[in-house]
Amino acid sequence: MRCAIVGDIHGNLAAFKAVLEHIEVKGGVDEIWCLGDVVGYGPEPHECLEILRTYNHLCVAGNHDWAAVDKIDTLDFNPDAAQACHWTTEQLTPEDVDYLENLPLTLCRGDFTLVHGSPRQPIWEYVLSVSVAQDNFASFETSFCLIGHSHIPLVFECVDENLCVSNRLPAGSGLELGEHRLIINPGSVGQPRDGDPRASYILYDGEARIIYHYRIKYDIAATQRKMAEWGLPLPLIMRLSFGR
Ligand code: ZN
Repeated sequence: MRCAIVGDIHGNLAAFKAVLEHIEVKGGVDEIWCLGDVVGYGPEPHECLEILRTYNHLCVAGNHDWAAVDKIDTLDFNPDAAQACHWTTEQLTPEDVDYLENLPLTLCRGDFTLVHGSPRQPIWEYVLSVSVAQDNFASFETSFCLIGHSHIPLVFECVDENLCVSNRLPAGSGLELGEHRLIINPGSVGQPRDGDPRASYILYDGEARIIYHYRIKYDIAATQRKMAEWGLPLPLIMRLSFGR
């Protein structure tokens, strides 16, 4: 089994397409595992949902997915995110709404649990520190947990009950899955926030049990032009240039 692990696409079709093309170059996958926030921020939410649905895939709910269909409110969003969210709602077809409303919070596949935020709080919690990661290892039963939400590619390793360490996921590198339990964030396809504006995702080779992290160049200006045409907030447009 080979699969692509993608998260936080955020309606950025140019970035998503660039990742899908790279996946094909690498020989294709059996499944796409999506960690939520397919929509929100970006200019083509419907198109991203439409393409994702053409693949054999799994997807869990992100906060932006549920906010776009009023399953959670946008009071906790900053004003720019809330504005983009309301715009996103207007772009969705009834089929898109139905799909987003029915996304599960958590999914398990083999050795992996999939969530958007954290296994403990799938919608809202950010796992960015070792202490938060450590607290979360008790909240899933599989060996590995895949998360999104922070838009930062990271791996947390549970060395033993009392020791958890975090590592960056260097692009182009392979990480062999061993005995230790891991919480893995593949970074964001459509709105990276680690200072590298390229789309971020993981390919998993289930036979070799290796994950490969990739950064993919895409036409950032094309996405930014579309956002400007729709009148989406300027800070959301600008941040794509810097990956912040
Ligand atoms: Zn997100």
